[in-house]
Amino acid sequence: MREGETATARRGTMRLMSDGTRTHEGGDAATVPCAGCGKPTALCVCAALQPIATRVAVLILQHPQEQDRTLGTALIAHRQLTNSRLVVGLSWPSLAAALGRGVDARRWGVLYLGAASAGAGASGGAPLRAVAANGATLDDQAAVLAGLDGIILLDGSWSQAKALWWRNPWLLKLRRLVLTPPAASLYGALRREPRRDSASTIEAAAFAVAALQGEASLVPRILRPFALLLERYRSASPPERPRLDRRRRGR
Ligand SMILES: [Zn+2]
Repeated sequence: MREGETATARRGTMRLMSDGTRTHEGGDAATVPCAGCGKPTALCVCAALQPIATRVAVLILQHPQEQDRTLGTALIAHRQLTNSRLVVGLSWPSLAAALGRGVDARRWGVLYLGAASAGAGASGGAPLRAVAANGATLDDQAAVLAGLDGIILLDGSWSQAKALWWRNPWLLKLRRLVLTPPAASLYGALRREPRRDSASTIEAAAFAVAALQGEASLVPRILRPFALLLERYRSASPPERPRLDRRRRGR
């Protein structure tokens, strides 16, 4: 983890403090998070992590109460993308503050919470659309998307993502992007998603970056550790099953 990041293990099995120290507070070996990928040891996906350098940068804002350490994907997305940053918190004064470096905010977009209601038809099959504040698809798609250096993803449940959205007014000034995942989430039946087009955070990152770079082959490469996670999860019987009934957004 980079400086400033704080992750808290679910049910207190481990805490990773902002200064990088880890505090174990009990829990057996199978549930103690791996230091590399943050997953319970039994589900460790480090073997599939293969950091990829992308042109498009990814910034993940994670709600502090987002605590699904079993099936959450923000940390493995961050580990998998060298040009990414994961920060945990509720608000930051600016994009530069969240990112830890100065950038041209006009060249950044945020995956908007708005439903892709106008999606299927209006997108013309494109997985990523730039939209106006009223949700209307912008005319100059190719130019707008080509002008983006980075994208922001909000990690948490729907209500947590909404809280992040409203607590960070600078997000309103960025390009708004709507993702229509070209494939159903690999989560399958593991998570009851509020919408058919909901994707995990790592899937949203993979689809969006691949679309912006015009490199479809990036998707399976970025998703390798996520696929391994689900494979391990489905074949193992974790001592502690996560709650599956939470209404989730990108994770
Ligand atoms: Zn690991």
